[in-house]
Amino acid sequence: MTDAAALYRQELIEAGLLIPTGVDGLYGRSAVFESVVEGLERSISRMAAPDGAELMRFPPMMSRKDFLASGYLKGFPHLFGSVHCFCGNEADHRQLLEYAGEGKDFSDLLEPSGVVLTPAACYPVYPVVSRRGTLPPGGRLIDVSAYCFRHEPSLDPCRMQLFRMRENIRVGSADEVLDFREKWLQRGLKWVERLALPAVSDLANDPFFGRGGKLMAAGQRDQQLKFELLVPVTSTEKPTACLSFNYHMTHFAEIWPIHQADGELAHTGCVGFGLERLTLALLRHHGLDPTTWPQTVRGELWPDK
Ligand code: ATP
Ligand code: ZN
Repeated sequence: MTDAAALYRQELIEAGLLIPTGVDGLYGRSAVFESVVEGLERSISRMAAPDGAELMRFPPMMSRKDFLASGYLKGFPHLFGSVHCFCGNEADHRQLLEYAGEGKDFSDLLEPSGVVLTPAACYPVYPVVSRRGTLPPGGRLIDVSAYCFRHEPSLDPCRMQLFRMRENIRVGSADEVLDFREKWLQRGLKWVERLALPAVSDLANDPFFGRGGKLMAAGQRDQQLKFELLVPVTSTEKPTACLSFNYHMTHFAEIWPIHQADGELAHTGCVGFGLERLTLALLRHHGLDPTTWPQTVRGELWPDK
């Protein structure tokens, strides 16, 4: 995190765009900020419309059982967030209040609930697709949007703990998924150009945990599984990933069995739009007041206005 990032955060807070909560990376959003997020969502919907994706919306939590099956804990234990609840008796309750009153740790009095916080918007989709049985010919295409949680508290406004991810998810053959990813990469490049954002595409890897994680990250790069569109927001040397294009091969279809119409294991891939990061990039490049943004950019976000 750079001083420039902390400074930009301060500007956003002073302009009322982000509302601080006292927790790093956890913010309220103003009406203006939300109008940009809504504009982005609509613009993405228009871009995706010809594909006819099936729309699904999930809350920002998912089944603990499905989450544990996903393997997320292996790769990203440091980012994971779990929901725990109080299920005790009256004596436990007295102790809970006593501990809470004294500022003591009372986690022993809590039990894991059946849900965890969703780390990526596409995660709840794979088990659902699996439960539907064999894919129809041509596979499936699904559109999701959700708040996601990652425990990465930071003063960099681009690194939030709760942020929204809009995703399109392709489930089908390797060719279908790779075609989908390439199509979105090209679309994404043209789209950021219409938004007048200076973006570059690059090979990337996920932030896997620990020493073993370095190997996983290297494998992901070697196999070109992840691309990103990066936009400078508070640093030109380290631009921010605003869109991600992922190919999971058969990883998810092995965990939650998904088979293609011909019986082969399915491949999956997703394109993810970081809605807060895109908003922060637009505010950075075009100014904190969207009414003054270039007409072409406004036309892309709010074509009816
Ligand atoms: P990074 O490498 O910057 O941590 P990532 O590779 O982990 O990002 P993905 O898992 O691909 O990100 O998530 C999809 C999209 O969600 C990213 O392209 C980005 O726009 C957004 N995103 C990821 N992490 C955050 C965060 N902490 N705060 C805001 N947006 C985020
Ligand atoms: Zn995804």
